[in-house]
Amino acid sequence: MSNHNALVRIAVPVPLADAFDYLAPANAPLPAPGCRVRVPFGRGERLGVVLEHPATTEVPAARLKRIGSVLDPHPAIGAELLASLRWAADYYHHPVGAVLSHALPGLLREGRPIDEPPEAAWQLSALGRAQDIAQLPRSARQQTRTLHALRDGALRASELKALEIGPATLERLAAKGWIEPAATPDRAREADTVNAPPTARPELTADQTAVLAEFAATQAARKAFRAYLLHGVTGSGKTEIYLRLIAGELAAGRQTLLLVPEIGLTPQLVRRLRDRFGEELAVLHSAVTERERFAAWRRAYRCEARLVVGTRSAVFAPLPSAGLIIVDEEHDASYKQQTGFRYSARDLAVVRAQRLNVPIVLGSATPSLETFNNAVQGRYVKLSLPRRIGSAGVPQVRVVDLNRHASRQALSTPLIAAITDHLAAGNQVLLFLNRRGFAPALFCPECKAIEQCRRCDAHMTVHLKSAAVRCHHCGAERALDWTCRTCGGQRIAVGAGTQRVGDELAALFPQARIARLDRDSTSRKGSLAAVLHDVEAGSVEILIGTQMLTKGHDFPRVTLVGVLNADQGLFGTDPRSHERLAQTILQVAGRAGRAERPGEVVIQTHYPEHPLLKCLLESDYTTFATLALAERRDAHWPPFAHLAVWHAEATQRDVALAFLERVRGAATAEPTPVTVLGPAALAMERKDGRYRAQLLFRSAERAQLHRLVQRTLLAVRDLPDARRARWSLDIDPLEV
Ligand code: ADP
Ligand code: ZN
Repeated sequence: MSNHNALVRIAVPVPLADAFDYLAPANAPLPAPGCRVRVPFGRGERLGVVLEHPATTEVPAARLKRIGSVLDPHPAIGAELLASLRWAADYYHHPVGAVLSHALPGLLREGRPIDEPPEAAWQLSALGRAQDIAQLPRSARQQTRTLHALRDGALRASELKALEIGPATLERLAAKGWIEPAATPDRAREADTVNAPPTARPELTADQTAVLAEFAATQAARKAFRAYLLHGVTGSGKTEIYLRLIAGELAAGRQTLLLVPEIGLTPQLVRRLRDRFGEELAVLHSAVTERERFAAWRRAYRCEARLVVGTRSAVFAPLPSAGLIIVDEEHDASYKQQTGFRYSARDLAVVRAQRLNVPIVLGSATPSLETFNNAVQGRYVKLSLPRRIGSAGVPQVRVVDLNRHASRQALSTPLIAAITDHLAAGNQVLLFLNRRGFAPALFCPECKAIEQCRRCDAHMTVHLKSAAVRCHHCGAERALDWTCRTCGGQRIAVGAGTQRVGDELAALFPQARIARLDRDSTSRKGSLAAVLHDVEAGSVEILIGTQMLTKGHDFPRVTLVGVLNADQGLFGTDPRSHERLAQTILQVAGRAGRAERPGEVVIQTHYPEHPLLKCLLESDYTTFATLALAERRDAHWPPFAHLAVWHAEATQRDVALAFLERVRGAATAEPTPVTVLGPAALAMERKDGRYRAQLLFRSAERAQLHRLVQRTLLAVRDLPDARRARWSLDIDPLEV
C-alpha cells in the first residue's frame, strides 16, 4: 500500500511550539513513532521525532510539506519513553519538540545513525512459566508450541522463525504477559543457569534481610509497578540493598536504572558497582564526552548494558527490558533541572516505572517531605533500615552556643578542643561550612561601605589566594584592593569562608594535613578525585568543605563532624528551608563514626533553643518530618498544595513586575479556585544585571492548577511585552 498521502505528526525542537504535520516520505515506509526524521522547516531543514500518524490535519493540503528523510528504521525513542516524554511535555508545559530533543544524546540530535539494533529476542515471563501447557485449548496450538520452545531459555526472532513461529503469535503471548523481550539470548541463558544471585558479598544484617524479604513479598515475584521508600539512616547499608536488588534483576535478564545525584562526588559507588557487575554497567552523566555518552546510551538501547547508572538526565535512558528503577538520595535537589526544561528526574522516574510496570525504590536517610508523605499515606511502601552497620551506633551530638563561646574564624573554643582530641586519637575530622572563598564581605570601617557586585544585589566575596573579589551569583571578578574607593580607608575582610577557616586550622594545627572540598578547590580536572582519594587513604586529617561534603561519602576514619554555622537556613523564607537544613545537618552528621569508630557531631549556632535544632537533637528525622508535614499542611504548602511559579526578568527595573502583573491579570480574568500570589520582586532582585520577579500559583488540586497554567500560557504568548521580559514557568519549583 502506498503511504503517499499518510500524515505524520512530528515534534521539532523550536520554542513555543507543539508539533507539526507532514506528509509521509514519498518512496519509503511510514516512519514509526519515536523515529527521527529530517523535515523541511522554514527555509532550512530540521531534525524531528515522529509522534503519531494523525487521521486529519488543520494544515491546508497546499501547504503540507513532505518528510525529507527517515533516519531510524526502528524507533530511537521506544514506545514507553515516548509516552513518558509526551506526558512530561504536558505536565511541565514545555514544548514537546524541545523535550524529546533533550532526551536524546547530542550525537543523535545531530543525526548520527544508531546502527541496527540487535535482533529482538523473547523469553518466558514468570507468569508464562507458571502456565500449565497441557491445559491450553487445542486451538492455541501455535501458542503452546511457542511456550514449549521457550522453556529452555530465550530465543531470537530468527530462531523462532525457523520453528515457524511468527510475530502474530508472539504478539498475542506478549499481550497476555506470558512472554517478554529478552536481552541477548546467550546472556539470558547464562543467567538462567545461575539460580542464586552472583556471589553475595557481605553477609546481610537482620535489618537488610528483612527489607529484602519485604520487597520480595510485596512484589510477589511479579514484575509490576510499585513505589518503595527505602528510609535508612546514613551507613545503614542501603547501597547493599540496591546491589542485591540489581543482582536479582541481572539474573532475570532485566535492566536496572540507578539514578544518583552526582557521580564525581561518589567514585566509591561506581567502583562498588563495577566490582560487582563489571561489563553490565553503562554510566551516563554530564561529565562524559558526547561520544562516551552516546556509546553508553546505545549499550542501554541494545540491552548490552543491563545496569544503567547516571545523574539527572539518565532518567531519559532507553530501557527496552526494564525490571527496576532506583533513585538514590531521592531528596537531593540536583534531581531538579533548574533551567529550560525544568523537570524533576525523581518524579519522572516514578512516571516511567509506572509505564514500564516495574518497581521503583527511592532511597534516602532524609527523604523529601513529598516522598515521606507518600509513604505515610500508603501510596509508597516504606522499607526501613533504622540502624547503622557495625558497632559505631548513633553519633553523639552536641550544640555549641556561639553567644557564649569565643571563636576564631568560625571555630569555637569547644570545637577546637574536640578537634584536638580526635586528631590525637589518630582520627579524621570533617568540617562543614556552606560558604566558599576567604570572606563573604570586604568592609570599610571608616565609611561602613561594603564592596558590592555591580550587576547583582550582592556582596563580593574575598578570594585571598587569587587576590580577587568575586560575585558568587554572576561570576564577576575584580582585583582585590584593600583601600576603600569611597573614603580611602583601609578595608578589612569580614566573616569566614572555607579558605579562611582552612588558613586558621593550619595555624592552630600546624602538624595536621588539611584539605578543602569546594568548587574553588576542585575546579581543576582530577582535583576532586584527588581530594577524595587522600581522605579515603587517610593522608588528610582535617577536611573543610561546603555542601559537597554532604553527598553520601563513606570515609571510615572520620569520627568528628563540625557544622560551623547551622544558622544559615534557620530563618529562610522559603517553605522548604527547614527541610533542607535538617537534611544537610543529618547528612553531614552521618559522615561521623562509620565502621567501628564511634562518632561525635558538634553543631555551632547562635540559636541553640531553635525548635528545629532541638527536634533534630532530641529525636530523629521521622519525628522532624512528621512535625514539618503538619506545618506544611497548616500553611498550605507542598505536598498539601501544588505550585507553579512564573519567573520574569528584565534589564530595566519594574518591567518584569509589570509583565507578571499582566500575567496575573490574564490568570484571574475568569474566576479560578487557584490562589494567585504576587507578583513580587525576588529577595535578591538584581542578578547579573537583570531585575527579577515571580508570580506564584498555588492549588490544592493539581488538575485545577494545570488548567489555569494552560489557559494563562495561551494568553501570555499574545501579550505585547512577552518579548521584553524574559520569562519562564516552573512546575513543582524547589524554591519559591
Ligand atoms: P548507606 O548506603 O546506607 O549509607 P552502605 O550500603 O554504604 O550504607 O553501607 C555502609 C558501610 O557498611 C559500607 O562500608 C558497606 O560496605 C558496609 N556494609 C553494608 N552492608 C553490610 C553488611 N551486611 N555487612 C558488613 N558491612 C556492610
Ligand atoms: Zn554579581
